[in-house]
Amino acid sequence: MKDARTNLSESPADLIIENARQVVTLQGHSLKPACGQQMDEVGIIEDGAVAISNGQIVEVGRTNFVNEHFFSQNRIDATGKVVTPGFVDAHAHLVFAGSRETELEMKIKGVEYLDILKRGGGILRTVRDTRAASKQQLQEICKARALSLLTCGVTTIEAKSGYGLTLEDEVKSLEVIRELNKSTPLTFIPTFLGAHAIPSEYSGRVSEYVDTVCDVWIPEIGKKKLATFCDVFCEKGVFEIDNSRRILEAGKRNGLLPRIHADEFYPLGGAVLAGEVGAISADHLLNMSSLGVESLKHAGTIATLLPAAPLTLMIDKYPDARNLISNGVPVALGSDLSPSCWIENYQLVLNLACYKLRMTPAEALTAATINAAHSVRMAQRIGSIEKGKSADLLILEVSDYRSLAYRLGGNQVNAVLKNGRPVAREGKLLVAEG
Ligand code: ZN
Repeated sequence: MKDARTNLSESPADLIIENARQVVTLQGHSLKPACGQQMDEVGIIEDGAVAISNGQIVEVGRTNFVNEHFFSQNRIDATGKVVTPGFVDAHAHLVFAGSRETELEMKIKGVEYLDILKRGGGILRTVRDTRAASKQQLQEICKARALSLLTCGVTTIEAKSGYGLTLEDEVKSLEVIRELNKSTPLTFIPTFLGAHAIPSEYSGRVSEYVDTVCDVWIPEIGKKKLATFCDVFCEKGVFEIDNSRRILEAGKRNGLLPRIHADEFYPLGGAVLAGEVGAISADHLLNMSSLGVESLKHAGTIATLLPAAPLTLMIDKYPDARNLISNGVPVALGSDLSPSCWIENYQLVLNLACYKLRMTPAEALTAATINAAHSVRMAQRIGSIEKGKSADLLILEVSDYRSLAYRLGGNQVNAVLKNGRPVAREGKLLVAEG
């Protein structure tokens, strides 16, 4: 180990992680997401090292190579360990208050989700709890939730509103996300999901609700620059195709990029709509048609799959990841974290992608890093270990990256670095502030 400058051709680095059993780079897909066979090739460097300066990756390669070009007194010895990019969670309903453990028994007895919703449960119950929470309370709840995800390896997360369903409460939720970007080390990508459910005060008046969302709320959210994306729960009996199209088009007119909950429970044609409106991502896709696959492929829309959703909904049907991958549609992963799918360790999503969606460990890691970064339009900055990117890195307590997908139930993350700074180690936070 070197601790002093020995060669004048070396440049200073703030930190060098060295001697890693594997550095899994996921390189080569910053401009376009990995698709088809590319998803199975993760770019492994054995005996690897990463040099970091000013929060960015300045070199990656074999340990000898990196040490020939950079020196630093600050080193992490990753002998026997694996280094990967930080996980990107491309679909999370992060901002909510309350919980719904009582609905688990209803699910076990076979009551379907849309029936729970009709009985005033599901989303509508969380809407009541979220409206009742002050901004400060919501802030604290969401901060704790986000920091817990960070200790298990999530460094960037798409975070949706959608449990406010009044302009005031949607703005409150999005302001919480903006605040979390400042007060925690994570990066949050805010999504406006005012069209998550039809609030009870608009019961039976879907079209009027959509008018309000399109004509009043979206322009206001756009003007305040509170969201990057506009999303819609496109589903039979909720927001069907025409209303979903209106919402996504209104978002586009106001500077919000479209993404969509598509074909989750019923083959309504949400994936086809995703392609037609140029959605960045179409999510869920349990019941998509072959036309939907073609539409996504043609539009370059990313399929963001959420395998924890059917698990927690107990519907035992999963999206056909193999069909999407073999048809060249780029696949990303997300947690679908919500009161219905309360997932605290994103590593479970990789497990399920392999055990339930039959993705390979390499495909799952690709989907959880660089492709998820594309799904949230961040791939130029994060999602892979390449020069010039933010040093959002995980050091895993395993000697082969495939253990991530293979082993269930633990936290295999030894250390989390965000912008080159260690922020969590062995499941414990090192810093709480951003
Ligand atoms: Zn969702």
